[in-house]
Amino acid sequence: MINIKTETRLKGIKLSEGIAVARVCLFNDDRHSNLPVYQVKDAGKEAEKQRIRKAIKLSVAKVENIIKDVEARVGLSESKIFVAQKMLLEDSTVHNEFFDDIDRNGYNAEAAVTRILDRYESKLLEVDNEYIKARATDIGEIKRRLLDVLTEINPSFQCVGTENCQRGKNKIVVAKELTPGLTVSIDTAFTKGFITEHGGKLSHAAILARSLGIPAVSGIKNIHSLVTCGTEILVNGHSGEIIINPTDHTVSEFKSRYRDLKQDFTLVSPVKGITVMANINKAQDTDEALSMKAEGIGLYRTEFEFLVRGHLLSEDEQFLCYSQVLKTMEGLPVYFRLLDIGGDKGADFFDLPEEENPYLGFRGSRLLAKRTDLFRTQARALAKASLQGEVSVMYPMIIDLEQFLNLRVAFEQEIANITHGKINHGVMFEVPSACLQAREILEHADFASIGTNDLIQYLFAVDRNNEHVAYDFTPERKVFWNVLKIVADAAKETRKPLSICGETASNPEYLKRIIDIGIKQLSVSPRHISAVRNRYKELKKK
Ligand code: PEP
Ligand code: MG
Repeated sequence: MINIKTETRLKGIKLSEGIAVARVCLFNDDRHSNLPVYQVKDAGKEAEKQRIRKAIKLSVAKVENIIKDVEARVGLSESKIFVAQKMLLEDSTVHNEFFDDIDRNGYNAEAAVTRILDRYESKLLEVDNEYIKARATDIGEIKRRLLDVLTEINPSFQCVGTENCQRGKNKIVVAKELTPGLTVSIDTAFTKGFITEHGGKLSHAAILARSLGIPAVSGIKNIHSLVTCGTEILVNGHSGEIIINPTDHTVSEFKSRYRDLKQDFTLVSPVKGITVMANINKAQDTDEALSMKAEGIGLYRTEFEFLVRGHLLSEDEQFLCYSQVLKTMEGLPVYFRLLDIGGDKGADFFDLPEEENPYLGFRGSRLLAKRTDLFRTQARALAKASLQGEVSVMYPMIIDLEQFLNLRVAFEQEIANITHGKINHGVMFEVPSACLQAREILEHADFASIGTNDLIQYLFAVDRNNEHVAYDFTPERKVFWNVLKIVADAAKETRKPLSICGETASNPEYLKRIIDIGIKQLSVSPRHISAVRNRYKELKKK
């Protein structure tokens, strides 16, 4: 144990955005490291099998409660993670392997469970596929659940009652691995952040942490030897950095740097003069959007429905998501962005090519033009859903008019024989070349939205995910606003609706400039809707 006393910065992988400062609560990962292993004979074997049956029954009951809880707190699709765990717990093939190990090798229940599930876990870890590897976590979690029941250990925190021990309150949870069970079993009101040694961005736990809005960083090697119960830590889920023992100066610097990210959850009704819609990633997010009185969905990042589930969605599965959103939004506008994959949004199941520079490779509309399988399935699903309400389709990362027209025609051809409702075709302006020919494009588009995240990335040749060059990823430069003005003027001349999504729109500091160039329709994450409306009210008073 080194137990650092001075301010120390360590870099890991960002899993879930947000900033948190609180004291460490160590999760008891090693509670099964010294389990009893012994041999049993004859009647003893049946007794061990009976212990396993009982442990399975109790664990299934616990997981069923978690499923209900996650369904209510996070959403139906996230609860599926635990449905999968329940199925594995109930799998008779696995049960028979436990019983076989007891019969043949005479092991006790704890040893049989550990031996069999460790074997499954290591087989999954050998597969050269990030998604399959991440599923090893589920096996590990099932093993821990069964062992907790068998050994009657409560999977608790290692509170040692030191001066700074928070005894479970306002804590940063430090664990070897962030598992789905750990993520949801923790009282979210008191859990301010997660730091772990292992766990990837695509892990279910990372997805859950993001849905719960808890900042999380992984990949911090040996974190357990660097901190103790009660050590103060700052977690920066935006950059993936953690700061052990941050000084008061560091904490206040962070608070002011990220002031703009402070969430304003008070409800502010729509105000006359601007339209504030919501950006969503999953169909269930419409609940949050409506609770913040969003005036529509200005960006539905449909690719997240795929990423969350970890597989390609069939036409029927997509139809269900899209029609649910239209039904829930009851006639308010919904902008469905076509699959925007590539760049940092890849997954093995998309089967994308290996690329040296994926941000300039098969991304957005360029990829859709090649991957007609993905494009056509989504077009059909959207067309069928349009019977529930008007569908506005947004084409991502459009580079010029020709690319947009080719895709629009292909979409219309694909749905020609499908009974459908009204469908609008719009463009995302997020590549400088498209912005510079905005007028030409808008003459042929029904509407458009400016994606400031990628626009800044491509305008200034600055990676949006690289914290080392973050100082250049800023909407402050005048040339950025000049480009937005070109698009806004083109929308005015062609009388086409134009909105702005992307993080610049979510930051109330930029609202005046957005309005000054003539954009009155914004789409922001639901948590920022009230702050933007409040800022507009202030501006109107001046
Ligand atoms: C953008 O680029 O600004 C945008 C809204 O799209 P995404 O962040 O999903 O790339
Ligand atoms: Mg984009």
